[in-house]
Amino acid sequence: MFKKGSKIYGILNGVCPVCHEESMYMNKNPYVLTEALSMHERCSNCNTKYKMEPSFFYGSMYVSYGVGTAFAVAAFIISFVFLGSNLKVAFGAIVATMIAFMPVIMRVSRNIWINFFMHFDKEKAKK
Ligand SMILES: [Zn+2]
Repeated sequence: MFKKGSKIYGILNGVCPVCHEESMYMNKNPYVLTEALSMHERCSNCNTKYKMEPSFFYGSMYVSYGVGTAFAVAAFIISFVFLGSNLKVAFGAIVATMIAFMPVIMRVSRNIWINFFMHFDKEKAKK
C-alpha cells in the first residue's frame, strides 16, 4: 500500500529515511525493551548518519506528545463510543493503551522526527 520512497513507508517501518533499505534500529521488535531505542550509528547502505547532531532525538519528544494523544483519543473512542463503557473504564483503557504502546509510540515519534529533516533519495536507494 505504502511503497518505498514514501514518507509513510519510512515512518511505519523505521527504515533509513534516505534510502529506505534497512532498519535504523538494532532490533526490529520494539517490545525488546532494553533495545527499544538502540539505533545504528549510520546506514550501512547509504552511510547516512542518523543522529545528525548531539541529542538530535530529544526533539522527538514533541512529536511523541502528538502521537500519544492520537493513541489516547483512539482508545477513548473505542472504549467509550463503540464499547459503551463508562468514563472510569474509558480512563483505564487510555492508561492501559499508553503503557502497552509506549515502545511503538517512542519509535514512531523518532521516525516522524527524522523524516522531517531527511528526505528519500532515489540515487542512494539504488546503490
Ligand atoms: Zn540508508
